[in-house]
Amino acid sequence: MSINVLNSNKNEVTDAESLKQLEFIEQAKEKVSALEKELGRKPTACVVTFGCQMNARDSEKLLATLKLAGYEEVETEDADFVIYNTCTVRDNADQRVFGRLGQCSNHKKNNPHMKIAICGCMMQEQGAVEKIQKSYRFVDLIFGTHNIYKFAELLNTCLDSDRMIIDIWKETDKIVEDLPVFRKYPFKSGVNIMFGCNNFCTYCIVPYVRGRERSRAPKDIIRECEKLAADGVKEVMLLGQNVNSYGLDFKDDDPNKISFAKLLEMVCEVEGIERVRFMTPHPKDFSDELLEVIGKNEKIARHIHLPLQSGNTEILRRMNRKYTKDDYLALVDKIRRDLPDVAITTDIIVGFPGETSEAVDDTIDVVKKAHFNNAFTFIYSKRTGTPAASFEDQVPEELVKENFDRLLKVVQDEAKEQTLKYAGQTQRALVESVNDHDESLLTGRLSNNTLVHFPGSKELIGDFVDVKLLECHGFYYVGELVK
Ligand code: SF4
Repeated sequence: MSINVLNSNKNEVTDAESLKQLEFIEQAKEKVSALEKELGRKPTACVVTFGCQMNARDSEKLLATLKLAGYEEVETEDADFVIYNTCTVRDNADQRVFGRLGQCSNHKKNNPHMKIAICGCMMQEQGAVEKIQKSYRFVDLIFGTHNIYKFAELLNTCLDSDRMIIDIWKETDKIVEDLPVFRKYPFKSGVNIMFGCNNFCTYCIVPYVRGRERSRAPKDIIRECEKLAADGVKEVMLLGQNVNSYGLDFKDDDPNKISFAKLLEMVCEVEGIERVRFMTPHPKDFSDELLEVIGKNEKIARHIHLPLQSGNTEILRRMNRKYTKDDYLALVDKIRRDLPDVAITTDIIVGFPGETSEAVDDTIDVVKKAHFNNAFTFIYSKRTGTPAASFEDQVPEELVKENFDRLLKVVQDEAKEQTLKYAGQTQRALVESVNDHDESLLTGRLSNNTLVHFPGSKELIGDFVDVKLLECHGFYYVGELVK
């Protein structure tokens, strides 16, 4: 299956910065071609992604630049160009990056042409960059989140130089449209609608490393969706740290200032786009208008991911989440009443400073009352630079573990019970891949985000099909195609 690199044709690109980057890709091409002659084979590149959907989308842009420059994509880190797109939301993600970098240095010893680059959220933290400068001298290129659009330019400099290149910006107000992008899937794609976050939850590093909220103009988002649809994409996921804040950064008299609900409606009108998802809404400003738009539009997936983080009002206050336990439950009730077929999933943190076992009981109470279809549970990770890192009442590890296990049990029981409710139904699934463990099966995703595995031919990948849900295996189904 071949996927086009979107926006690689200069005639279709309108953004001046993007055109400039395409010029740099042309220059990089000559260097990669010279390397190909020297090596007697096509140079290879590997993009390693950590973290969220936003990073996955950024990596598709990095990969497009590398492919257009002449590199062949490989999955292994013994490539001629390896780039790590990092995450810093949790400490273990940082540790994993350093571990992988260490292994990569061995490859570099055997391949003098190899270049190693590192970018993304972790590089916006001074301490991480200093550590690389001191202990990982073999890294060739370091850049952050704000200048990722300049990757083609940085790649050129890097290919010309034997020194470590570091280019980190503190902030940006710029959004560069039309950068080339190579999609992982031909039939579905993420679409950034905004960048950054203004919420400053006290545990979260994102506002510090991704900057303030910047929304893309609606016309640019719609144009991207139209291009994607023309290129065979059927499902889009609108991405932002807090999609409900979409457009709030535009001035009141700016015609671009529309609500997220309105934008969602406009995306649904794009011909060829058959399913629309979004990630992530913040419970504090989930509007009635949004509920109404979801209710009216069958194209919008029957799935809302609504991060809870804690079910205890005092912990929520200390987290700066700006809602209470009761507010959250009232919102869930409203969603269940207005949109009974919608699956609700959530994120929960255990072990936030000051969290007692009684506070976790409140969270468990919310899990039971909200009937989440799934919940991603995380142990609190202290991030230097965030307010919560200096809170004095950090919770002992043992207590965190005990509370985490208690919560996980309830989460899993609820999720199973909710998933079981679909047994026997026939639902539309977008066929995404051949099953990882059994080649005779395909894997499809239902509108409510549940996975279903069923016998079928791989020609169906990328199509919407009707599947009868036969056996529930906890979080997923085994089913059969309905002809
Ligand atoms: S809403 Fe809160 S948790 Fe989400 S990115 Fe913004 S600060 Fe972080």
